[in-house]
Amino acid sequence: MKMDFWENFTKTISQATDHTVKSTEKLATVAKLKYRISTFRSKLDEYFRTLGEMKYSEMSGDEVGEDEYGMIFDEIVLLEKKISVLEKRIASLNDFIECPQCGYKVRRGIAVCPYCEYVIDEKAAETAKKAAEEAAKAAEETVEDVADAVEDIVDEVADAAGSGDGEK
Ligand SMILES: [Zn+2]
Repeated sequence: MKMDFWENFTKTISQATDHTVKSTEKLATVAKLKYRISTFRSKLDEYFRTLGEMKYSEMSGDEVGEDEYGMIFDEIVLLEKKISVLEKRIASLNDFIECPQCGYKVRRGIAVCPYCEYVIDEKAAETAKKAAEEAAKAAEETVEDVADAVEDIVDEVADAAGSGDGEK
């Protein structure tokens, strides 16, 4: 019975920890990707502004070469491609993958399949297992601490009762 409890406890913690570790990693990755997208977007704004300025000076009577437009145009196309690649990367982080063992759809980045417990990501599973073992150990130590504290109190009460009797 006691073993079952710790086994279930460990399993629950392991799944919870796994989820937390992976979603933290994901958040950091998404944040980095979003930052890069925002820098690309401000570059894009610059190119569009340059394009507008070129058109304005052309309309004001200045000569603007075709290749100058072409250069800016190419840069804009390239930046838009880069942005779309990064946006797809962010979307794929929220994707689901199929468990290689049972075929259930599980969230990408999950270490252990929640349905059949197949280890999808060994490294992440190992990290989660260690965290779970530490949590279980800490909990076991707490139980021992409480037991010790109770024993101390019982001893103190017994001593107090004993000395009280002695004084009388
Ligand atoms: Zn599975």
